[in-house]
Amino acid sequence: MSVTQQQVLDSLAKIKSPRGVALTNANVLSAISASDGKVFFSINVDAAEARAWESVRAEAEAAVRGIPGVTTVMVALTAERKAGAAPPPPTPSRGTPGVQSVHAHKPPPQGGAQSPMARQSEIPGVAAVIAVASGKGGVGKSTTALNLALGLRDLGLKVGLLDADIYGPSVPRLTGLHEKPELDGERKMIPLKRFGLAIMSIGFLVEEETAMIWRGPMVMSAVTQMLRDVAWGTLDVLVVDMPPGTGDAQLTLAQNVPLKGAVIVSTPQDLSLIDARRGLAMFKKVNVPVLGIVENMSYFQCPHCGTKSDIFGHGGARHEAEKLQVPFLGEIPLHMAIRATSDAGNPVVDSEPDGPHAAIYRAIAGQVRDQLKGVIAAA
Ligand code: ADP
Repeated sequence: MSVTQQQVLDSLAKIKSPRGVALTNANVLSAISASDGKVFFSINVDAAEARAWESVRAEAEAAVRGIPGVTTVMVALTAERKAGAAPPPPTPSRGTPGVQSVHAHKPPPQGGAQSPMARQSEIPGVAAVIAVASGKGGVGKSTTALNLALGLRDLGLKVGLLDADIYGPSVPRLTGLHEKPELDGERKMIPLKRFGLAIMSIGFLVEEETAMIWRGPMVMSAVTQMLRDVAWGTLDVLVVDMPPGTGDAQLTLAQNVPLKGAVIVSTPQDLSLIDARRGLAMFKKVNVPVLGIVENMSYFQCPHCGTKSDIFGHGGARHEAEKLQVPFLGEIPLHMAIRATSDAGNPVVDSEPDGPHAAIYRAIAGQVRDQLKGVIAAA
């Protein structure tokens, strides 16, 4: 049974807002996504009012859940800072299913600024969450994230992959997964399983076009839900494929996801290196250790004769990493096999495990694992 936006609006019209008018007349609702029984929308209010709206969010969620045919509801409460106000430290929701992050104003505690890491609650059962980030799109971030996850799997670790690239989720394409996740008894989404990985993507929940039009504040809410309202089980490493770029949305994410480290993907071209530097600066700002830089599309390797050509120049990322004193994790060639396997949903580490590319990704994974050893062992 399909659920329409109008049905959702009709159920929301019965809820009274703290402004004294119906929720649908309070001018706070985002676009409503309703497809295949899954309903998503956000309530956007001023930070100062956020507390008063929490019960309305819960009421809205309950009302929508009561519509026949609705299987999943995600209602995010987001509070935007007024222009000119001091930047708020966003607070994540604390693991209660259905309760969303509220981007509320909170002054730092007396006696000094609070460390961003202190605000992040761990994800039960997950030893280390790491981000794969890039300064811009199209550098192979998602391809690297998936193959890195598979490399970590090959090292004997239990690994999950969260596609947090809400603006353009590519994990469904890269994994060939298009099913909708089911809910477990505690109403948590069960990640899809493929290649021995636990995989979650916003692309499993909404049509790609819908994800593209989501507004900034919803990014954090959606990612928080995918982190905390998913039954990840026990994982050594959860690899998060971040949205590309170093803007506010990415910064908020980096700040709110309990990251143990970040891997930055760059191509050798100058522009992309500049972007990678911005990525480094962003993680430094939020005290997330940079595990290293990966140079993707580092050189062209002819699929016929194997000859290497440095079409973009070569060694830029290694040099940059040395200069910035962050580890250089490795060079991945621009190769047909990587593109073809990626785009066919058969990532190269899984489909050609004995090939040279899988070996490169595994070597990168080995360095990442070594840096996380203490965290994984402690868990
Ligand atoms: P991003 O996540 O940075 O936007 P993707 O991982 O989606 O980038 O990759 C963009 C395109 O480049 C895809 O078609 C992918 O298959 C291709 N690609 C990524 N890395 C490589 C590589 N090393 N060699 C060949 N093609 C690659």
